[in-house]
Amino acid sequence: MSGRNDKGRRGREQGNGQHKRSRSSSSSFASSIAGVPVVVGQTVQSTIVGLTHEGEGVGRFEGYTLFVRDALPGELVHAEVISIGKSFGRARMTELLESSPDRREAPCEIYDSCGGCQLQHLDYSAQLRWKRQLVVDNLVRIGKLQVAGEDSQGVVVHPTMGMSEPWRYRNKAQVPIGVAAGQLIGGFYEHGSNDIVEMDACLIQQEQNEETVRAVKEAARMLDIGAYNRVTGRGLLRHVVVRHAQSTGQRMVVLVTNGRDIPHRLELVALIRERVPGVVSVCQNVNTLTTPVVFGEETRVLWGEDVIYDEIDGIQFAISPRSFFQVNPEQTVRLYSKAVEYAALTGKETVIDAYCGAGTISLFLARHADRVYGVEIIPEAIEDARRNAVINGIKNVEFAVGDAEVVMPRWQREGIQPDVIVVDPPRKGCDGVLISTMLELRPQRIVYVSCNPSTLARDLRLLEDGGYRTVEVQPVDMFPHTGHVECCSLLVRND
Ligand code: SAH
Repeated sequence: MSGRNDKGRRGREQGNGQHKRSRSSSSSFASSIAGVPVVVGQTVQSTIVGLTHEGEGVGRFEGYTLFVRDALPGELVHAEVISIGKSFGRARMTELLESSPDRREAPCEIYDSCGGCQLQHLDYSAQLRWKRQLVVDNLVRIGKLQVAGEDSQGVVVHPTMGMSEPWRYRNKAQVPIGVAAGQLIGGFYEHGSNDIVEMDACLIQQEQNEETVRAVKEAARMLDIGAYNRVTGRGLLRHVVVRHAQSTGQRMVVLVTNGRDIPHRLELVALIRERVPGVVSVCQNVNTLTTPVVFGEETRVLWGEDVIYDEIDGIQFAISPRSFFQVNPEQTVRLYSKAVEYAALTGKETVIDAYCGAGTISLFLARHADRVYGVEIIPEAIEDARRNAVINGIKNVEFAVGDAEVVMPRWQREGIQPDVIVVDPPRKGCDGVLISTMLELRPQRIVYVSCNPSTLARDLRLLEDGGYRTVEVQPVDMFPHTGHVECCSLLVRND
């Protein structure tokens, strides 16, 4: 039995299912290194003992670590070494000698060449177990925390909350546009190249998004709208970004263009309106930079609304093209409900929600608190947050634009004394100043929502050293079939 083809799926930054490009990550160009028991090109037999957060198998050979794409824990493989470094190398599976009972046939046809998913070849319940273990390992190794076992005390790490139907969950698609054989295409970047591969079906996308993207591509082809060429920097259409608000059925289309003028703009909008059911907003974002960043600074409405409305657990949210909004609606409710549960509010508390985005968690908390303060760095997101408070008639919230690590100390000087602080930082975790401000503010509880177990573990250690105890951690599977895991953690003050 042979492994997958080597146009494998790893090494690409995945961005939660957004088909982004990144550089391949070989550890060294040397073909042999003193003290390393393998050379590049050598085929070795290796037992797989673990799985990295990017879903690569961790193989051992004579005490040396080799990352082997597609290999699963417990498997025995033949693998050809493709790069080496002092402490680890990378190898390509050439033969699967002993297969894991958790191995599955990936249902997606483009799984091998697309970087969006990393774990389709692993049974879903095994994915959930692995994600919990990844969290435990980080808490122990980086956080130096003791995790409760069957007969030992410590932080309780719950089983990962999974989805009953872990497909078709994403409410947003971000599709790069390019040219192949003179024809406009859109799909994903092929691994290790700048080539875009045409894609019509993605099994983790909601079908409405697929339908929208297909319609926009067809309309662009009919009107001969040029696709952006990433080598020459010429051509117009760079990305098609679409959102689907599951609770209302509303859809948004954002055309990211390399320049302001769109030829046949009115016809294009008319075709989109005719072919995309539920579309209420067609926007343009202008991005003339040559970097791989998707959005530029300027966004304008071509037709319809500037936002779409979605609803989570009875609260309405206006979402504009560039605001952060969780992509898995079914799991979002569960994540936010867990944050509210951990906050244990009685209606009397003052709460700070740091890194609040469009105010989602803040509004969930406001229903149970006396007053909520939210802070977020992106001005448009705070505009959305304020609008969201108004449309839901929620008056006990206040939002500030700025760096959380600057605004929190200001609030401290103004005498705001939170009973609970909720943080939901980006992957790099909380800023050091923010952590020390939290420790000075001494809330009874801290609820830490994290999309990165390693920075979570680092920050939990700092909070523990500052007088808090991590009580429990709930991993939530927001991104099935990818290596990502979200956690909601509860800390209480020691006294
Ligand atoms: N809690 C929100 C958003 C979480 S994503 C939700 O669940 O929808 C993290 C947010 O932190 C993003 O909106 C990002 O723009 C914001 N952010 C990043 N760095 C920040 C900083 N230094 N200060 C404040 N907000 C920041």
